[in-house]
Parts: sequence; C-alpha cells; structure tokens
Amino acid sequence: MIDLHTHSTFSDGTETPTELVATARAAGVTVLALTDHDTTAGWDEAAAAVSSSGITLVRGAEFSTESPDGRGGTVTAHLLGYLFDPAAPDVVAEQERIREARRARVWEMGARIGADHPGIDGDSLLARLPADSPAGRPHIGQALVELDVVASVTDAFEHILRKDGPYYVEKYNTPIATAIAMIDAAGGVAVFAHPFARKRGPTVDASVLADLAGRGLAGIEVDHPDHAADDRATLRDVAAATGLLATGSSDYHGTNKTTGIAVETTAREQYDALVARATGVGVLA
Ligand code: AMP
Ligand code: FE
Ligand code: FE
Ligand code: ZN
Repeated sequence: MIDLHTHSTFSDGTETPTELVATARAAGVTVLALTDHDTTAGWDEAAAAVSSSGITLVRGAEFSTESPDGRGGTVTAHLLGYLFDPAAPDVVAEQERIREARRARVWEMGARIGADHPGIDGDSLLARLPADSPAGRPHIGQALVELDVVASVTDAFEHILRKDGPYYVEKYNTPIATAIAMIDAAGGVAVFAHPFARKRGPTVDASVLADLAGRGLAGIEVDHPDHAADDRATLRDVAAATGLLATGSSDYHGTNKTTGIAVETTAREQYDALVARATGVGVLA
C-alpha cells in the first residue's frame, strides 16, 4: 500500500516520524510519504526510522499556497511537493516566511479566542510549540481540548476554528504558480492536495487544475478522505484529459483527525511515474 500524504509532530500530526513509520508498518504500508506543513525538519528522523523497516520513504512537504479559483477570486490551496532539494534557497526562505506567518496568525487567533475563552492567549499558545515550528489551528484545538473548552480537535474545528467563524485569521500563503515553480526548480514533483475538499471552505474549479497542468503541476490528489464520490470522478477525468498524475492518500494526522493511515492509497504505476519525474532527492529504503 502506498500512502503519499501524512503528518508528524513536526507540523500538526500527533505522532513523531518514528511513531508514524511504526504505524505505517503495522498497517501494511510499503511506501510512505512524510508531508509536514511548510517544513522539512522531520526528514532526518523519518529517514532513520525507515532504515531496515521494509518501508520506502518519500520525503515531501505540504506547501501553504493561494490559487486563483477559476471564478475571478482566490482561495487557499495546499500543494504537495515531493523529493525536492531541501537546501534550495527559495524553498528554505519561503518555508521560513510561511512558518513565521503561521505563528503570527496563531497568536492573533489566540487573542481573539481568548476574549471569549479565558485561559487561551497568543503567547501561551506559541509557548507550547518549538520556536521554528509551523503552528496551525490543530495546535490551538489541542489547547482547547486540554482546557476542556471542547471534547476533541474535530469539535474545535466545528465550533471555534472554522474558516467562517469569528476567530479565524488568514495568513500569508505563497501564490501557487510560484510554489510550483519553486518545487520544480528544486527537482521536486508538485501535486495539488485535496483540490475538492469542500467542507474546508471554497475550492478551485476544475479549469484551474487544467491550467496549472500547463505550468508544471505534475499531479492531483484524487482519492482523499474529504472528497465526495462525484468529485473524485471529475478529478479522474481531469487527470485523464491533462496527463496529470492521480494520487490517493490518507492525510493522516494521528489523533488530530479521525482518519486512519492508508485509508486511501496511490496506484503503483502513478507512484512510479511520480518518482521518475524527480531529480532533487531520491526515495529512501
Ligand atoms: P491551518 O493550516 O492552521 O489553517 O489548519 C488547517 C489544518 O487543520 C489542516 O491541514 C488539517 O490538518 C487540519 N484540519 C482541517 N480541518 C479539520 C477538521 N475538521 N478536524 C481536524 N483537523 C482539521
Ligand atoms: Fe494538517
Ligand atoms: Fe492539506
Ligand atoms: Zn495534509
């Protein structure tokens, strides 16, 4: 089983890369991609963990971007980058910039939430996290669980952290064409993550994916827990019509989400084609 999208404690997952590899192994995963948000800091631990585990590791990251929506506006979008050179100066600089924007935004959301929920504030939220980490809403959710404001991180998203709620603050996101070019220049492979995850907010139209296919985008995540059946069919058609690779993945976050590892997977030939495109770093076994 090939799972090309998972998170560790280096971003908003609840398992260390070592624990994540053990979870993957127990579930029968043979190829695992680590794709923490806006950082490659977990790569070394994951590399050590897969050695002699029987699992092949695809090193990657999930980049925070904004995309044209195809209707004259813009939407936030997640872009998976695989097997890129982690030392490429543009990648390093942009990921740092995003992590800083993430922390400023968590601080601001903490201040807003704290006005209604004593015990939460920006400084104490950030004090819980390593200095250079990609702080996100799941971290706020964990704090809200610990303070007994909500029962689970999922509940926190529903009641407090949702995009259309009173506490939400947007952050700086990289224009998606810039991010694709950056990943490409670093020898990586860019795949549009969960393009039709509609419960998270407005998404792109299919026309945008076709357009990005002409600008270096290599693939789209077709099978994802947040995708409805009809949307998967549309995405499969887009991939067939444009030559984009079609991937499937769990977007596993440990206990921060209810999704199990490898509940969605990628077909072997799509994975092989993805790896064949990369010139940044190789897969590790
Ligand atoms: P952020 O990047 O800080 O805006 O937070 C978005 C992240 O929260 C996503 O990458 C997911 O990991 C997580 N997320 C989004 N929706 C939910 C949800 N309903 N329940 C739990 N986690 C979620
Ligand atoms: Fe996440
Ligand atoms: Fe995502
Ligand atoms: Zn993700």
